[in-house]
Amino acid sequence: MMRLKHAQLRHLANSIALSESARAMVRIKRLPQNDKTNGWNVILPERTPNAALAGDQRADWLVLGGGYAGLAAARRLAENRPSDAIAIIDAGVMGENASARNSGFGIDIPHVTGSAQAQLQGAHRYMRLSRAAIDHLEGLVEAHGIECDWSRPGKFQTAVTGKGREKYLEPMAEMLSSLDEPFEWLDGAETAAKLGTEHFHASIYTPGCVLMNPAALTRGLADNLPGNVTLYENSPVIEFSQDNGIRLKTPAGSLYAPQMILATNAFTEEFGFYKQKLIPFHAHASLTRPLSVDEQKAYGSLEQWGVTPVNAFVSITMRYTKDRRILIRQDINYCPSLKVSLEEQQRVKVRHQRLFAERFPMLPDVTIDHTWTGFVCLSYNHAPGFGRIASNVYSAVCQNAIGVTQGTMSGMLAADMACEVDNPLLEDMASLGTPNTRPPRPFFDIGVKLRNGWDMWRDRHEA
Ligand SMILES: Cc1cc2nc3c(=O)[nH]c(=O)nc-3n(C[C@H](O)[C@H](O)[C@H](O)COP(=O)(O)OP(=O)(O)OC[C@H]3O[C@@H](n4cnc5c(N)ncnc54)[C@H](O)[C@@H]3O)c2cc1C
Repeated sequence: MMRLKHAQLRHLANSIALSESARAMVRIKRLPQNDKTNGWNVILPERTPNAALAGDQRADWLVLGGGYAGLAAARRLAENRPSDAIAIIDAGVMGENASARNSGFGIDIPHVTGSAQAQLQGAHRYMRLSRAAIDHLEGLVEAHGIECDWSRPGKFQTAVTGKGREKYLEPMAEMLSSLDEPFEWLDGAETAAKLGTEHFHASIYTPGCVLMNPAALTRGLADNLPGNVTLYENSPVIEFSQDNGIRLKTPAGSLYAPQMILATNAFTEEFGFYKQKLIPFHAHASLTRPLSVDEQKAYGSLEQWGVTPVNAFVSITMRYTKDRRILIRQDINYCPSLKVSLEEQQRVKVRHQRLFAERFPMLPDVTIDHTWTGFVCLSYNHAPGFGRIASNVYSAVCQNAIGVTQGTMSGMLAADMACEVDNPLLEDMASLGTPNTRPPRPFFDIGVKLRNGWDMWRDRHEA
């Protein structure tokens, strides 16, 4: 592979202020706490996690975080440097951690962008990155026989009312036409025929989206890493220091390497980077039991489908899975504590059951079996936390809730940047910008709550 031109590398490296480099030693206060509620994982066969870090270990490269970004970074480092030892470390276990808890959409197109030339160019860059990630993941699913129900049935973007159609779907149709992207416009009756519910006023179908079981995918990616990668699970990093390299400390061991790729998404500020730039949200999802044969008949025995709403904060993402379950993802809220109580999850479960009943009255006895919570990381200007953030630290964080594709691509590209490997997609990634500074707390907290409240009220017709 060609080496990245020096000027290009300098430009990309400087795109993040190096002055943000972390202090010499940081104690990590907030750790991920996965509560073993992830329905996608519970329905899979048992998996034995890799051993936790123990004793003092060394590697040539560290990857901190085993989500889409970290797994992609570790794999790419291993490919770029086949004789180097790469260590990847995660607080949780594959299948329960954040990346395994999502709705399982590999999204290829932006929701809506303007029609100005620069915005369309931005959309093209976004699609190039997303589609490269989908192709990459599909290649791995095929090569390693990862059983995660991977398929490309596309997705429906739905509006519940005429207002939602005018405000969101019509501009989206315009955008897709300007981008020369294939799509199909469906009115209410046509949408109902595809989805088996009369809840929607209209929808736009686009064919490029992937659907899968995200727990099965992340487990499969982790269990098929190249031979020069060691994955440590159940290994929360409680101390991080930069002193002639990087040293990570866990309750039972320590890990040293000269360089690191940070892939900790919502937990990144803990390590002293992107201070006051990242915005953690929690999102909840529920999965029903599989429909019985009679229920499938009552429902209409449709093929699997995926729905994303016109406003992800107000309305609901849904799926009908290959194994005949229905997924509901609803409620995204600002969550600086990065913790959610079991009581709140119980309340969410009741709400999801009600939302399910409203949409599927023909399935009165279908119960929600699993409800879980995961964290996403947004930035004020929707830019990713990507690039070189200290002399020996690269970051692939802040996927703005599109982690399957954006996380995968940012991990791969962080590894290419770190190894000075030329990749034309680096330019696309750099063009997405870097996260803006947000106002300080508590002013920011109040602002987010007001903004969310306003958003919910303004688009309440889409709930
Ligand atoms: C309910 C829900 C639905 C979603 N639906 C979709 C969807 O359909 N499609 C989509 O593309 N995205 C979706 N998302 C967003 C997507 O899941 C995230 O964007 C994605 O997980 C980000 O991947 P990542 O690798 O950057 O970070 P993460 O998946 O958050 O991985 C970061 C890892 O870092 C580890 N870590 C953090 N701190 C430490 C520490 N101190 N020590 C050790 N390890 C640590 C964590 O354990 C974690 O595994 C959804 C999210 C949720 C919650």
